[in-house]
Amino acid sequence: MKIAVFSTKAYDKDYLERYNTFGFKLTFYKVRLTEETAHFAKGHDAVCVFVNDQITAEVLEILKEDGVQMIALRCAGFNNVDLEKAMELKMPVLRVPAYSPHAVAEHALALILTLNRKTHKAYNRVRDMNFSLERLEGFDLYNKTVGVIGTGIIGSVFAKVVKSFGCRVIAFDVKENEELTAMGVEYASLEDLLPQCDIVSLHCPLLPSTYHLINKETLKLMKPGSMLINTSRGALVNTKHVIKALKSRHLGYLGMDVYEMEDKLFFRNLSEKIIEDDQIARLLAFPNVLITAHQAFFTDEALTQISKTTLNNVNEFANHLPLTNQVTF
Ligand code: NAD
Repeated sequence: MKIAVFSTKAYDKDYLERYNTFGFKLTFYKVRLTEETAHFAKGHDAVCVFVNDQITAEVLEILKEDGVQMIALRCAGFNNVDLEKAMELKMPVLRVPAYSPHAVAEHALALILTLNRKTHKAYNRVRDMNFSLERLEGFDLYNKTVGVIGTGIIGSVFAKVVKSFGCRVIAFDVKENEELTAMGVEYASLEDLLPQCDIVSLHCPLLPSTYHLINKETLKLMKPGSMLINTSRGALVNTKHVIKALKSRHLGYLGMDVYEMEDKLFFRNLSEKIIEDDQIARLLAFPNVLITAHQAFFTDEALTQISKTTLNNVNEFANHLPLTNQVTF
């Protein structure tokens, strides 16, 4: 199998080559998969893509014409793939459903603890010989109420982590997780959950039903001064509305690892560039906002699992084996 790997970073090449026990021929492209770059895959059997590659109907048509037979996602989310078109063209889409739920859940916790205890500010202060504590005050997580939206693989690990801090955990999902209810996690509707929570963490996928789940109406329901954490997908949150909620001081803190317009920014060094996106600039100007650039998955364990599963997915396809991780809808 010849695989065209798009959006390649040094670490992708390193891990994919390390675990390529199948002897696949890998061609690495730094560029994203778009309509303009799709023809780079000509002569390959599969494309391997990441969260911001654009697997649109047009791209799929080009890939099909150029002989590509399958799409190997090296991520869990698949909101960037036109699944209907892929199905119509008989191009299976395979993903990595669970690589390290701990990586993402622990990053959500890192955002909470950093925003709360302001360790990022303390680090800079102390390095500057400023040993004052003014404005570094935080709050105990113990006894606080945490809302978990989406209690699948990552959300349930996150719920257990915050439970171990002595938090009360309320969850919202279209289906209940019995293991969590047995641990004392309470399920509630979104409307009932939001006003009760000191912290709300999003762990549901981006679907038409979850697009802008956090908007001006749902933000109004959140407890004044509470914290919103998004490590799931940017478009779960209406960015304009969240900026308004921060300006009005209704929303107390925002931690985000994903951003609605991240495809024009994330995974690149733009430090010497003029940023056209005024919303990210506004968000970065708030002292109570912490942004990381889609790094929640970025641990050794997760990268290992992503590479192994991605290559195994291609192997199953190549050998006409049952496709364990095929995305269906
Ligand atoms: P999962 O499929 O195991 O869990 C998702 C949960 O959301 C399920 O329990 C599902 O029932 C629930 N859900 C579906 N529709 C819902 C709705 N309308 N309202 C509430 N809940 C709903 O997925 P997962 O592995 O836990 O991953 C969750 C998300 O995390 C992924 O979709 C992906 O977008 C994101 N993610 C981000 C990173 C990162 O690096 N930031 C890494 C991996 C995954």
